[in-house]
Amino acid sequence: MRDLTDLRREILRDVLKCSYCAMCEWVCPTLDVGNGNRIYGPRGRINLIVSYFREGSENGVLKESIYTCLICMACTQQCPAGINIAEDIRKFRTFLTQ
Ligand code: SF4
Ligand code: SF4
Repeated sequence: MRDLTDLRREILRDVLKCSYCAMCEWVCPTLDVGNGNRIYGPRGRINLIVSYFREGSENGVLKESIYTCLICMACTQQCPAGINIAEDIRKFRTFLTQ
């Protein structure tokens, strides 16, 4: 199994490029389903991933946010910082199955 320290570093390196500009949000199909609650959008998911790595807190909200992502890549195509948001979310799921 892949070293989780490397995986954590790889995800963090990417998501920390986020400037929280919100350009990714308007294309996200799950943001609408979640009534605009940002935890159901790409920016909110990135925020939760950063918090998890910094504070180590796992909770139901985090899991629901991460597992309701469709990994559809729509957000990734919008990001001016070139963050592979969908792939980061997919990789991050590894940490929720430990
Ligand atoms: S578009 Fe990119 S930089 Fe902007 S909020 Fe989304 S992930 Fe962050
Ligand atoms: S990959 Fe996930 S966060 Fe990005 S637009 Fe699709 S459902 Fe939203």
